[in-house]
Amino acid sequence: MSDPADFTKNVLPHLSCLEEDEAGPDPGEVSRRYGIPEERIVVLSRNENPYGPSPRVRTALQDVPLHRYPDSRPFIESLSEYTGFSREQIFIGAGMDEIITTIVRIFLGPGDQALIPMPTYSLYGLAAMLCGAFPIYQPRQDDYSVSRQVPEKIKMAFLCSPNNPTGNALREENVRAVVEGTDAIVFLDEAYAEFAERSLIGLVREYDNLVVGRTLSKAFGLAGLRLGYAVAPPWIAEQYRRVAPLFSISSLSLAAGVAALQDLEWMRGCVKRIVSERERMSRSLACVQPSQGNFLYVHTREKSKVVVERLLRRGVIVRDCSSFPGSGEHCLRVTVGRPEENGRFLEELEKADMAGSSLYR
Ligand code: PMP
Repeated sequence: MSDPADFTKNVLPHLSCLEEDEAGPDPGEVSRRYGIPEERIVVLSRNENPYGPSPRVRTALQDVPLHRYPDSRPFIESLSEYTGFSREQIFIGAGMDEIITTIVRIFLGPGDQALIPMPTYSLYGLAAMLCGAFPIYQPRQDDYSVSRQVPEKIKMAFLCSPNNPTGNALREENVRAVVEGTDAIVFLDEAYAEFAERSLIGLVREYDNLVVGRTLSKAFGLAGLRLGYAVAPPWIAEQYRRVAPLFSISSLSLAAGVAALQDLEWMRGCVKRIVSERERMSRSLACVQPSQGNFLYVHTREKSKVVVERLLRRGVIVRDCSSFPGSGEHCLRVTVGRPEENGRFLEELEKADMAGSSLYR
């Protein structure tokens, strides 16, 4: 018998260096691994909204016709009202993740370069590599702002404000300097904008090379339904619509999005509670970065990997940041949850970061 064929040779060479992205352990796994009842496990690792979406969402799901392909127009109309931008300047995707992995295909090809100030959300680098492009990781300044200088060959630059995982928002003049100093396309990720003091989405009206990405996964509590959108100059929105799949968002998700956007009061109520808890937690932590998101970037005395593992054994799931390029080995990211969940985290952290005083006493 002849040797079996080596089908792996068909995998594109530029993908061979990629590693599987880890979403971190889920509560079921932690429960099995450490024998902790699932209801005792606190999940503060994914920057979700612990209060969930507006109650109107469930009602809206009941009447959705399931045998037809989805109609995205009502959702885009609602987004137009929410953002103040015209429908022509808005496009949508199955989560902002789909928008990121789609928009790169318009601008990045093999050998191109994408600028990524680090540490930041890891998908930008992966999305660039999927196109055969190179991520150019650029260290941030000490206050986590980004360099105003964009190297010449860059075709896309990724900014994130508030930044995941550091929590800082970029100043308007910092973003303007980057956008004005380059002929690259700048993608500004505002996944956490609703938790911040201000948004820079209005700058899209002024620049022809700026796109702002948003999501309903965070403040609107719809992470499970995968709804993202972006606001862009008309020419970019038009290019996007040419390359994106027509029906990637389900009818259920679209109906949920419309209902969530009709109940801004609910979303604002969640944001208020989360921001107030964020500030309470910040005051309790000794080594924490000021945050404009729904999460905190905490410096640990011991290696974060060790601290995060100890927290896991105690039933508290947070994110070890050592897998974020440029974050080092002493930071963890904790999502702001309900008061009792945050209390559990603070209590357990004190026991888990044994070498240090992560907490003010
Ligand atoms: N951008 C940032 C900065 C994020 O943290 C996330 C989600 N963790 C996303 C984008 C993707 O959001 P979505 O759920 O809409 O895909």
